[in-house]
Amino acid sequence: METRLTASFRASPQAAVAESILRACVHCGFCNATCPTYQLLGDELDGPRGRIYQIKQVLEGQPATRTVQQHLDRCLTCRNCETTCPSGVHYGHLVEIGREVVEQQVRRPWSERMLHALLRGVLTRRDLFGTLLKVGRVLRPLLPRSLRDKVTPARAEGRWPRNAATSARQVLLLRGCVQPSMLPSIDAATARVLDAIGIGVLTAGSAGCCGAIRHHLNDPRGALENMRANIDAWWPYLESGGIDTIVVNASGCTAMAKEYGHLLRDDPAYASKARRISDCTRDITEFLLPHAETLRSRLVAGSTAKVAVQTPCTLQHGQRLSGVMERLLEQLGVTSAPVAEPHLCCGSAGSYSLLHPQLSRQLRDRKLENLQRGEPRMILSDNIGCIAHLAGGTTLPVWHWIEWLDQAIGATAAAPATSYAQGR
Ligand code: SF4
Ligand code: SF4
Repeated sequence: METRLTASFRASPQAAVAESILRACVHCGFCNATCPTYQLLGDELDGPRGRIYQIKQVLEGQPATRTVQQHLDRCLTCRNCETTCPSGVHYGHLVEIGREVVEQQVRRPWSERMLHALLRGVLTRRDLFGTLLKVGRVLRPLLPRSLRDKVTPARAEGRWPRNAATSARQVLLLRGCVQPSMLPSIDAATARVLDAIGIGVLTAGSAGCCGAIRHHLNDPRGALENMRANIDAWWPYLESGGIDTIVVNASGCTAMAKEYGHLLRDDPAYASKARRISDCTRDITEFLLPHAETLRSRLVAGSTAKVAVQTPCTLQHGQRLSGVMERLLEQLGVTSAPVAEPHLCCGSAGSYSLLHPQLSRQLRDRKLENLQRGEPRMILSDNIGCIAHLAGGTTLPVWHWIEWLDQAIGATAAAPATSYAQGR
């Protein structure tokens, strides 16, 4: 598309990125076919092509409106459109820029501003969130449905391996913000599975939220602060020469950490460090794929069950790791039930399910229908947000696949066993 960006925007550091993305789009509309909001709402302005056009108009000087803001808000940032686009349009980077520019021009109603501030303040603080979650678990029956569905029952964490520092190899694990309180079993299972193949897990105490929550809640500055804090926490481990990989077991956070290099490219103090962080970040699925054979030899008899695999958008579209989780599970001997529309978002999308509960629930129900059609015994995912969101709509157990593997190889033996039958 031809572009005529305003002189003031042209002077901004984002101009070159926005212009090259806008010019790559040939306006063919193929992306609309796989966009969840276009499928639900049938409105061109709630599809990727329409959103690109609205952003273009704003960057070319047309005043942003509340309506444009809402069309951009309704986007899940699932990046399904990027996978579909034959012209390689980086929609995700463009929508970030568009949202930031629109946010500067359109003041949100106070109720929305308060809600965004509350979510940014609570979800990104591990201790505060953990305390509130404990209270929420006690008061669960009294909570409104949208919140009640999110309050997952605790699953036993089990013991962490004690010998991480003496293992032949060590990796850093990002613990993030909400996951250690919601399902501490995921990080502990990750540490046990890695320990089983001789890899020790280290965690940097001061590393926290990856920045995705603030990034998607229109707080780019706060998101960059989260990213810089993580880089500061990890850098000494990378500099000492002993650590060459940061493993992340929530695909939403992996996708974000892989973006650090792009998002901090104009920060002279952090640009090169951020690039290195992105380069050495690995999702747990891609990290463990080469070890599948070794892990399979450790499976205990009768551990494989028929499962349905939910591949998060942040894994298949955000990180372009489509099929990796399925391949890993297949190599581990897992029987997967066929799942229709595997490319479609489940509606979780960070805080989207709290901000757009109706659309989110429609997508969740559609996803669950597809996941359950093959009559699996459980649903496996790779992202805490999707797990909590899907678990709110089914009685089937919804687990991170690493939790399943942890039990399947008997690594969790020191911890109380959790039955597959234990769903919600
Ligand atoms: S983003 Fe890609 S698929 Fe969508 S309209 Fe533009 S060129 Fe076509
Ligand atoms: S990111 Fe997802 S919801 Fe947003 S326009 Fe693209 S396909 Fe649609």
